[in-house]
Amino acid sequence: MSQQIDQLVAEYKNTGSLKGLPSKLYIDGNWSDAHNGQTMDTLDPSSGKVFASFSAAQKKDVDLAVEAASSAFHNVWKLTKASRRGEILSRAADLLEQQADRFCVVEALDSGKPLAEAQGDIASSVSALRYYAGCADKIQGDSFPLGEGNYSFSTLEAVGVTAHIIPWNYPLATTIRGVAPALAAGCTAVVKPAEQTPLTALMLAEVLRSAGLPDGVYNVVNGTGAEAGSALVNHPKVQHVTFTGSVDTGVLVMQAAARNITSVTLELGGKSPIVALADCDIEKTAEGVLWAIFYNAGQICSAGSRLVVSCEIHRQLVDKIVEKAAALKPGHSLDNPNFGAINSKAQLDKIAGFIDRARARGIKVACGGNKMHSAETADGWFFEPTIMDDVPMDDELVQEEIFGPVLSVQVVDSLEQAIEAANCTQFALAAGIYTQNISSAMQLSRAIDAGQITVNDYWAGGIEVPFGGNRRSGIGREKGLQALRSYCATKSITFAF
Ligand code: ADP
Repeated sequence: MSQQIDQLVAEYKNTGSLKGLPSKLYIDGNWSDAHNGQTMDTLDPSSGKVFASFSAAQKKDVDLAVEAASSAFHNVWKLTKASRRGEILSRAADLLEQQADRFCVVEALDSGKPLAEAQGDIASSVSALRYYAGCADKIQGDSFPLGEGNYSFSTLEAVGVTAHIIPWNYPLATTIRGVAPALAAGCTAVVKPAEQTPLTALMLAEVLRSAGLPDGVYNVVNGTGAEAGSALVNHPKVQHVTFTGSVDTGVLVMQAAARNITSVTLELGGKSPIVALADCDIEKTAEGVLWAIFYNAGQICSAGSRLVVSCEIHRQLVDKIVEKAAALKPGHSLDNPNFGAINSKAQLDKIAGFIDRARARGIKVACGGNKMHSAETADGWFFEPTIMDDVPMDDELVQEEIFGPVLSVQVVDSLEQAIEAANCTQFALAAGIYTQNISSAMQLSRAIDAGQITVNDYWAGGIEVPFGGNRRSGIGREKGLQALRSYCATKSITFAF
């Protein structure tokens, strides 16, 4: 870790907080308190202690933010040359990269994830800004062959004000994943971070401002989902909502958007399978599955939370993963452990509830299964890396998203059974396949219902690759060139002569 990270970690350990954290709302280029002065606290999941507070917006504040975004859209941003928009995003990427150390310490502290994982998040955020910076002046329409006497073409126009509702597991990365393509396309943005992780979206405001982004183009209204989030997604001047979060809240968001005929991108839950066939490389597969479920302590919508394994290698593979899981040690996020905290006590209790009920049903716990504390501080919200073995297809451990470090193992004895097991839930977000047989990999890739499938490396991918789910996992795609389409409306223009 760098000297700056060491200094910030020392400051936090000595004072219980960090100097200079942003705490206000960011509306129309100004830092302001909520109109009624309301604030909320943010907690360090590794210790369970409050380390900062922040302004909590009410409907009135959200209305101001949307008005600012609307005015900036009509008067400034949609009139700004596309290449200039790209330059600003590119400069923002450089500035974020320069400030990566501070961003990663704050992100780790606020979310409970290990420093190294937060570093990965900041690096991928920089990549996303750069990727969409390069896209800004390549958003092109089409032409249509109507024949003699007509001339017909289309343009892709920015939709207007976009709302971004952010979850607590990847606060900055999810913000940038939505905001970067929106801004590149010429839209303006109002961001509502999660209550648990309000800080890095605010820090990003300073980066964007320093990069030359005009006032009102990017706004941040922290606050509760019920008040600030709801006011935002119900606002008639919002033209697109990008939401990442739970299915239940996604339904509310879609209902609110429906009233205004506002389009939505919904990135919701997952219960993603990893199919391991008998011919897979056991070591590589075990390592892949380990991090598919235990990275960010399993708090990832696309976590590989089900292992669908051929009966021939069931014992060998599960034993190998259990052996590797034993080496995962919890610790304070700023001590950079290899296994991080659960983001909130409520989430910790939810995870424990799943395991308690499974034990009562007689499901076998291959490893883990208990709450625990940080080894150094004996504090914080942690849950052991957990593997539940040989779980029946209709069990809630297979059917429900747990959003924690819990792997459910399903044993199969044919390719057909593997396909059936992989597709047996209401979710269809991601899937992993581990096999050395290209034909089996092709068949599985065809047959598994998912927005993205990886073969022999669960987390393979990048900002270039579209991401999103089918069925209850969501609507639309983020990342890649496809994400830009959510922020553009096609206008076709036809001349007769
Ligand atoms: P979780 O239950 O894990 O906190 P949610 O899906 O409820 O996940 O939260 C994801 C994001 O949605 C958060 O920013 C939250 O504040 C926001 N949110 C919650 N309820 C609403 C709502 N009714 N309208 C808009 N946003 C909401």
